[in-house]
Amino acid sequence: MEFFTLAETGLKLSRVGLGTWSMTGDWWGPADPQKAYATLRQAIDLGVTLFDTAPAYGRGLSEELLGQAIRDAGCRDQVVIATKAGLQWVNGKVVRNCSRSWLAQDLENSLRRLQTDVIDIYQVHWPDPLEPLEETAAFFRQLLQEGKIRAIGVSNFSPQQMERFRQVAPLHTAQPPYNLFERQIEADVLPYCRANGIATLIYSPLCRGLLGGRMTPQTTFPPGDLRGGIDPKFVEPRYSQYLKATEALSRFARDRYGKTLAQLAVRWLLDQPGVSVALWGARKPHHLEAISGLWGWSLDAEAMQTIEDILQRYVPESIPPSFMSPPARAA
Ligand code: NAP
Repeated sequence: MEFFTLAETGLKLSRVGLGTWSMTGDWWGPADPQKAYATLRQAIDLGVTLFDTAPAYGRGLSEELLGQAIRDAGCRDQVVIATKAGLQWVNGKVVRNCSRSWLAQDLENSLRRLQTDVIDIYQVHWPDPLEPLEETAAFFRQLLQEGKIRAIGVSNFSPQQMERFRQVAPLHTAQPPYNLFERQIEADVLPYCRANGIATLIYSPLCRGLLGGRMTPQTTFPPGDLRGGIDPKFVEPRYSQYLKATEALSRFARDRYGKTLAQLAVRWLLDQPGVSVALWGARKPHHLEAISGLWGWSLDAEAMQTIEDILQRYVPESIPPSFMSPPARAA
């Protein structure tokens, strides 16, 4: 395992963190809490120290299961809990809400579900256009001063939004989407974070399973799974293009390194300048077996170029993951 020490905090993050969104349903088909719990315990046993969750995942279930797994393993002082604030379920839908009253409630709910009195990395899940960023930043700064959180993060923020936030509060981490097929942050977020010493916790490293190496033209998704029509990458004719790219990338991973596509995709991420951590989304214990094959090798310049050539050939048009963006509250 590789580790990354978060500046100013001393928090030791495994460079692969466990992402806990897909394990608790909502947008991913039905949840299986027993498998989710087993996956959390397996990650702890494998030495993963960073766990990314959010109140929105499974409407609290993700935080609850994580709190139970950490308590049962007796490892609270060896793991880093990263959770988020500022989304709210209203009438069966998730909306952005960074009002002070909701943030205060959101925090108390997270602490209770996680069975802890301090959150290690506390992140604004999405910027809320109805609340001044400076007020959100001031709330997070106050939590840091009070010792309720150890580090401040934001997710889905542009450099301009981070710049405004940093006028009021320190910013330790940013959580953007990034993977072989979704490269938008290379133009702005990644250079900004590098220039300003902000660690990056990368989400969707496997492009929601597309880079897991198991998808075929026959793959189907259960009702409620975002890959059944909401995520444009899984809709034809694009899906077939992505599958052609994954076939070529899988061959390259196997022939050149003896690795799987998932290992190539995450190693590629970890080798990008400015990437601190990849948040691997898993919901079954066997999903984590691949992690041990990530260490002790890296991609050279020639391999990076071969990957670029494959991407250019099969998916020249880059589609951002904007379908995930939740709406603002009704004004
Ligand atoms: P991801 O990690 O790119 O993909 C997760 C999916 O990949 C899994 O559900 C599984 O699909 C598949 N997978 C996992 N391990 C595999 C393996 N070894 N072999 C083959 N397939 C494998 O996507 P993500 O869940 O969107 O992102 C990861 C984490 O980032 C989330 O859990 C969450 O913590 C965070 N995130 C944050 C935001 C935000 O707004 N801040 C947004 C999205 C995600 P199947 O279930 O089909 O097997």
